[in-house]
Amino acid sequence: MTGEASAAFDPFRPPMVGAETWQSAMVAAGWRCECTGQCGKGHVKTAGRCGTNHGSAHPLAVDAADPTASLHAAVTGAELVALCAGCQAGAKRAATKAAEQDAADHTDQLDLFDLTGGDAA
Ligand SMILES: [Zn+2]
Ligand SMILES: [Zn+2]
Repeated sequence: MTGEASAAFDPFRPPMVGAETWQSAMVAAGWRCECTGQCGKGHVKTAGRCGTNHGSAHPLAVDAADPTASLHAAVTGAELVALCAGCQAGAKRAATKAAEQDAADHTDQLDLFDLTGGDAA
């Protein structure tokens, strides 16, 4: 429990998850980006999965598998994935876009319900 001494800022490890969580997620990922297209790229050259390995040139980040999950969810046992910076940014962007699209769809639906529900009420 005295890992404080080694808890200095590490550019390889974003502060969003603890060192142990980060390490176990990385080991599970095989120290390789786990993106299988959620960033929007097909990664066809690397059999559908991003081929970026963890390293000084491409430090991987550990993030919630669901890019829309809250930070709290991400650090409290949600599914975690190792992602390279490019895929992490891409996945976030895609998720944000999807959420916006979702909200837009939902608004349309509400309008629709409003119109059709008017008669019933
Ligand atoms: Zn990647
Ligand atoms: Zn990717």
